[in-house]
Order: sequence, then C-alpha cells, then structure tokens
Amino acid sequence: MTKIIDGANQAKRIRADVKKRLLALKAEAKLSVILVGEDQASRVYVGMKQKACDEAGVISQVIKINAKQAIQAYKSGNCLIKQTIRKLNNDPKTTGILVQLPLPEPIEPGPVLDLIDPIKDVDCLTSRNLGRFFSSGSDQDLTPCTPKGCLRLIQSLKLDLKGLQAVVIGRSNIVGKPMAQLLLNQDCTVTICHSQTRNLKNHTQKAELLVSAIGKPGFIKADMIKADSILIDVGISRMGKKLQGDFDFDSAAQKAGAITPVPGGVGPMTIAMLLENLLICYQLAHAQKKT
Ligand code: NAD
Repeated sequence: MTKIIDGANQAKRIRADVKKRLLALKAEAKLSVILVGEDQASRVYVGMKQKACDEAGVISQVIKINAKQAIQAYKSGNCLIKQTIRKLNNDPKTTGILVQLPLPEPIEPGPVLDLIDPIKDVDCLTSRNLGRFFSSGSDQDLTPCTPKGCLRLIQSLKLDLKGLQAVVIGRSNIVGKPMAQLLLNQDCTVTICHSQTRNLKNHTQKAELLVSAIGKPGFIKADMIKADSILIDVGISRMGKKLQGDFDFDSAAQKAGAITPVPGGVGPMTIAMLLENLLICYQLAHAQKKT
C-alpha cells in the first residue's frame, strides 16, 4: 500500500524540538521578515511563518515595503530593501533575516539577498552560504529550508539511498539545485530536469525517487512515474481556495510506493526547517561573540 508521507506531523515534532532547544539555551531569537508588495500567496506564507515562530517562543517582525515605492527607489539607485537589510544586519536583536520571494520586477533578488549578513541568512540564500553549502556537504551548516525539509521526509522512510536513481525537476537556487546537491551527498545518482529537458517522461519513468518543483498543478501523471517510487511534491499552485501540487495525486498515489500530499507534505517542513535554521543562526552568532 502506498505510504502517504505526513509532513505536517513530522514538522510539528521538529518545531517542538526547536522550542525545547531554544528554551534550554535561554535564547531570545528573533526572525525579521521583509515583505515587499501585496502578493496574496506571500502574505499567507509569511503569516504561517509568524504563527510557527509564536508557537516556538520566537519573536517575529514583518517589515512591509510598498511595491511601487520599492521599485521607484530601486530604479533611482536607492534600494529600500537593501537599506532595510543593512539596518537588520546591525540590529543585535535580529537573529535571522528572511526576504520573502518573489520580489516585484525589475528588482533582482541576487544582489539584494547577498547583502544579508551570512550568520543571519536563515534561508541560506547568500552566495557565501550557498557556496559553503555546495562545497562542504555538512548538515551542521545552514541549508536552504525547502530541500532540507524534503530530505528529512525522504530519510523518514529509512531506505538505503546509496546509488538510488533520483530525478529532481526544477533548477532554482531555492529548491532544485540544492535538492540535487543534498541527494548527491546521500550518494544518490542524480538527474536534474527543467523546462528545456527533452522527453521528460523518459527521465521520470526511471526515477526511484522523484522530486518535483515546477509549480504546474497535476502536471505529473501516473504514466510518467515508476511503480513503487518515492514522490516528493514541492510544487504549490492555488486552485481557487485549494492548493495543488505538481503530481496528479490520486493517480500517482495508486502507483507510487510513497508520496507527499499537498497541503501537509513539504510546506510544513519548510517552515520547521526555517526554525531549525534560526536556531543555527543563533548558535553561530553566539559562537562569534565568544571569539
Ligand atoms: P521556479 O519558477 O524558480 O522554478 C520552476 C522550475 O520548473 C524551473 O527550474 C523550470 O525549469 C522548471 N519547469 C518549468 N516548466 C517545466 C516543464 N514543463 N518541465 C520540466 N521542468 C519545468 O520556482 P521555485 O521557486 O523553484 O518553486 C517551484 C515550485 O515549488 C513552485 O510551485 C513554488 O510555489 C513551490 N515551492 C514550494 C515550497 C514549499 O515550501 N512547499 C517552497 C518553495 C517553492
């Protein structure tokens, strides 16, 4: 029978564990989120992150920046987001800084994110932290939240991952590329597919582990997957009031060995990993103070 991987439940346990560890350290951790514009989905995600912070005893603040003002200032070479990041870098109370993506066009996220102090880079998106992540492979360091959460879900199945044929669909810095790296670190044989991949089905049908981060609802049907494979659905698409993942859940679940649902799979794990990373930021800041 297909196993439905319960991300919500695993995430709850991780959040409780982070809370315990923060309490033991008597840590006053604070997450500062920069939210630019009115994007409805971003507002919902930020709200969920704040709720998780509240429950874990973490202080959170959201700094909202009007999209029009942000774009105007950016065009005149006076980026409001960068100014805010500089302030937060110098704020001793802020443990972690998160810039909620996407940013409105034409603001390029790369140079903005790179300004974040690496020890406050809670989503691991600065070039420095990504460079360390891709070269070190240590899970003690900061790791991008979503792929980190996906790996935990995969590991919860307690399978031997060595040599496993893994396919990752998507090549973003936030999901696809770090996901492939984490699986490589686990000795999987990894293929990355993307929008220009020819004959996607040829690759996905061979995947013993398939991670999809496209953002096209129900795009991957049962005929594209291997029987008894592990399916990790990162994609989130809003269909009216409902959320849908990249997999055509009903048909894929009948054929797969294990699958993450949407909602209740990768989403809650991303938030739990954010809290774990915040704890790492706290520890990094304290280690720095001691030296
Ligand atoms: P992105 O737009 O940067 O990446 C999408 C990727 O899909 C691209 O690399 C593109 O090459 C690939 N793609 C597009 N069409 C394709 C096709 N027909 N065949 C193969 N590949 C194709 O987005 P992202 O930031 O990486 O996010 C991807 C999805 O994951 C989105 O739905 C996003 O909402 C979701 N997401 C979820 C979480 C979570 O916590 N669950 C976190 C981050 C992102």
